[in-house]
Amino acid sequence: HDEGRKEDGETSIVVSVRVRPETSREISFRGKYANPLPIQIHNDAVILLDPDTRSTDHGRRQRDFVFDHVFTESASNEAIFRTVALPLVRRSIEGYNGTCFAYGVTGAGKTYTMIGSPGVRGLIHLTADALFQARNEAVDSKITIKMSFLEIYNEHLCDLLTHTRNMNLDIVEDPHKGICVPGLTEQEISTTSQVTTLLRQGQARRSTAPTGANEASSRSHAVLQFTVISRPLDDNSAPGHIGKLSLIDLAGSERAAATENRGLRMTEGAAINRSLLALSNCINALGDIQVTGRKVFVPYRDSKLTRLLKDSLGGNTETHMVANIPPSALYFEEILNTLKYAYRAK
Ligand code: ADP
Ligand code: MG
Repeated sequence: HDEGRKEDGETSIVVSVRVRPETSREISFRGKYANPLPIQIHNDAVILLDPDTRSTDHGRRQRDFVFDHVFTESASNEAIFRTVALPLVRRSIEGYNGTCFAYGVTGAGKTYTMIGSPGVRGLIHLTADALFQARNEAVDSKITIKMSFLEIYNEHLCDLLTHTRNMNLDIVEDPHKGICVPGLTEQEISTTSQVTTLLRQGQARRSTAPTGANEASSRSHAVLQFTVISRPLDDNSAPGHIGKLSLIDLAGSERAAATENRGLRMTEGAAINRSLLALSNCINALGDIQVTGRKVFVPYRDSKLTRLLKDSLGGNTETHMVANIPPSALYFEEILNTLKYAYRAK
């Protein structure tokens, strides 16, 4: 039952799936299942197989999902960058906005994709490198690049580039500049090592939970924005272009479903659910507008995340989502939910 590929031109956003390598713990759990690997990949299709059916593959319940791209465990961050982020770099220099999300449950590989891990560069570094290269190669314009880095935790915006950690920044819509966050640090950047330092400092400031940084990062969305300003060299009065490129490490999607939590954890889950649902609803409404040409209400105001991205989703912008999945039957429900969410975005 192929759930179908939408016709060309209907795709409102580019949706990719990335499967990370199995961990040793996952490999050691294989024995529990008659059919240990829940997914098969054929080109750009992901086939999800029910792990609990103790029969041959033939009798397993299966669901097929087709995406724009499927990256297997052997794909490098560089390969993913070339497909999902490099097109956004080119457009940001021309003054268009672009957005790239990493979606998935905690442990699925979102941070590895966006930020990397020791010795492995993420999409953010690779994007910064490409922006610097474009700046150096520009012959008839001067390109300036600024970076901001914020976190959305419990529907509050926090600046990650300052010690004072303003805990509740506002989002305003300027008729000329678009969406702005007054008071948010915007640091001009010129080298990759600067980006690395700012990222490391910012990650260390993420919502402090007693359980450590990885736990904290699963509870909040991290939004890194590069503002790319290009001005023609021969005409000082010309306005030039401003493009904004947003790279987002979303909160763990399992938090949205954790209804058994109480107190603060429940509040966090509700906030995450709200923004992930709002994101999906906005993407779908924008897709409907593109397909039907009709005016459809886009519920940007339903969450801080979508309000912040109002000028970076839809319209003249380009949006890419990377849905990260772990390859283990241990996470069958989580994989199914991730594939459904990602498929709905297409
Ligand atoms: P998330 O941010 O979604 O919670 P992480 O990015 O922290 O998940 O990944 C969980 C673990 O798996 C980390 O140790 C990370 O280094 C590793 N990992 C994730 N994706 C890959 C990959 N594609 N190749 C190698 N290791 C990976
Ligand atoms: Mg993470």
